[in-house]
Amino acid sequence: MASKRVASVLLIAAVLMSGSAVGVMAFPKCLICTLLTGIIEQVALDTQLPVSTAIDNLCTDVTKDLPFLDGVCEIAGGVVFASTVQSCVNNGVSPDNCCKQLKWCDDNSPCTLFKEWPPKVPLTQRHLGPQLLELAQGADFNAMPKAQSLELVRAFSGVAAYLGLGAMDKNERRGVSPAHGKHHAPAPVHRHSGKVNAGDTPIPVADHLPLFDDDGDRFSPYGALRGYHWRGMDCNDKDKSVYPGRQATTYGPEVDHNCNGIYGSNAQGESYEDVLCKGTGQRGIISLGDSVTAHFRIPDYMLRPAYINASTYENLIPLVEDEADWPLCSWGTGFANASSCPYSKLGVDSLALKLRANNLCNHRDFQNAGVNGARVGSMAPPGGIVTTIHNRTGTDQPAVVIYALVGNDVCNGHPDFSRMTTPADFEASVVAALEYLDAALAPNSYVIFVGLADGRILFDTLQNETHPIGVPYPDFYDYLNCYETSPCWGWMNTNTTVRDITWNEHANVLNNIYPKIISERSYDNFEMFYVPPDFQRIIDAWLAMGGHARELIEPVDGFHPSQTGNVLLAQQIWADLKANFSQAIGPENPNNAQITALFGDQGGYGPV
Ligand code: CA
Ligand code: CA
Repeated sequence: MASKRVASVLLIAAVLMSGSAVGVMAFPKCLICTLLTGIIEQVALDTQLPVSTAIDNLCTDVTKDLPFLDGVCEIAGGVVFASTVQSCVNNGVSPDNCCKQLKWCDDNSPCTLFKEWPPKVPLTQRHLGPQLLELAQGADFNAMPKAQSLELVRAFSGVAAYLGLGAMDKNERRGVSPAHGKHHAPAPVHRHSGKVNAGDTPIPVADHLPLFDDDGDRFSPYGALRGYHWRGMDCNDKDKSVYPGRQATTYGPEVDHNCNGIYGSNAQGESYEDVLCKGTGQRGIISLGDSVTAHFRIPDYMLRPAYINASTYENLIPLVEDEADWPLCSWGTGFANASSCPYSKLGVDSLALKLRANNLCNHRDFQNAGVNGARVGSMAPPGGIVTTIHNRTGTDQPAVVIYALVGNDVCNGHPDFSRMTTPADFEASVVAALEYLDAALAPNSYVIFVGLADGRILFDTLQNETHPIGVPYPDFYDYLNCYETSPCWGWMNTNTTVRDITWNEHANVLNNIYPKIISERSYDNFEMFYVPPDFQRIIDAWLAMGGHARELIEPVDGFHPSQTGNVLLAQQIWADLKANFSQAIGPENPNNAQITALFGDQGGYGPV
């Protein structure tokens, strides 16, 4: 058992180190080596297991279910790799220097991650997610819910996404080696069946549609691969006139044409859909956004796989298929039980859940078109992410559209401000998306802009914290910036002036465009409203509940809202809408109790 746990870290290491070999990533080998050797060395020190034993277990037990890792295993099992890392463990050689011995780093590399070795801050005093923290303090990991024990698996795609695929815009995906100043080619993103094969055709940015969708209505009975984890479940995948949010129907009342679980007729022969839903202000929700909308998350277990259960590899492929995102637990469209989501004291809450609770006729009418790395330019037509939503004109209920590009227009790895979106380009892209929406939404819809976050709060919150890997966050930020591979040079930066300019001259300037658009323009099919994302208010709310600000930020990336952060974000935006734009929410359905009495959970959301 213990050796398998060590094997799991080596599996991750091998996946990452061979990334460029199989076309997964184009990232500096030295950076990948240092991060992963840092994990391997610390785990080996903790468990006292020989590195080579772990590799043997890895290659005999694990990869038989994962044939696409065969090539990876050969590299990890290489005698030079295993013996060198073992020697580093035995002799107290830091990961930075060990990778020089391995020739993954140049001897004159200017970037150093582990400025002290071994790390002085013990695991329990690092910034960890709530569960790993409990485990590090001695809880029994075998008692963990299975859903959480599977998180390591998600890290395979998560790390790839973070280190150069998902967390950055497609055009920003490139690693720069400081030793050579050489740009590597951007790596293609692969999505077919979760397997990664060199030579696959790259998936276009706009192709974020359900892979399994027999009738082509953009809703699916399958969860992952942009299925019902992302959009309400299709209750008939052989009929493209049956899907969540549908209003028009040619069927009789016995057919649940909108998949909301309400169908049939009462004793007077009136359809329940008419009696319970007609005229109640039914509507769906569509979340357009980036990795924050999709709820991107790299579990911190991947940094301490000694705590992972040996059954971790079950159901690997479906987990990889959600692009390292947790839309089913997200602030916009989350709906899953808390036991299927990252642990939070606050569980799961979302705008979709609140909209549903307000009117149960809205059941399953949600779409999450969040894409890691999206910015206003990649959202806009032609071919942009906005075009992946279901066209609702003439057939569907109105929708509340959340337009939330909260970071990537000022976030990339380049060490200057020149790649940030200009105000003119920003406005043009937002307007283009709005024009598309005006043609694609049913009348009486709403568009709610969530502005760019003031990311200075990240540094302010984490500057004195220790990253799970064992280095101070400022060292972690400096290291990523040394390689120009940070997801966000503007925010994840130890230079106060850089952070202030990113806000004052860029993010805040872009935010001011939303009120300008609202005042200058009007559209036939929707009203607009602007919500500045106020993370200070979210932090204040959490502090008042006895929490700590760091718990609202994902430990590994130091960048995305945690599950708790997602819940509080949903609650803040809902409160804002209720107070200032309540027409978007609509009236409470007086028939809710009757719907529950007749239809129970309305078929649930799917077998999550
Ligand atoms: Ca379908
Ligand atoms: Ca259908």
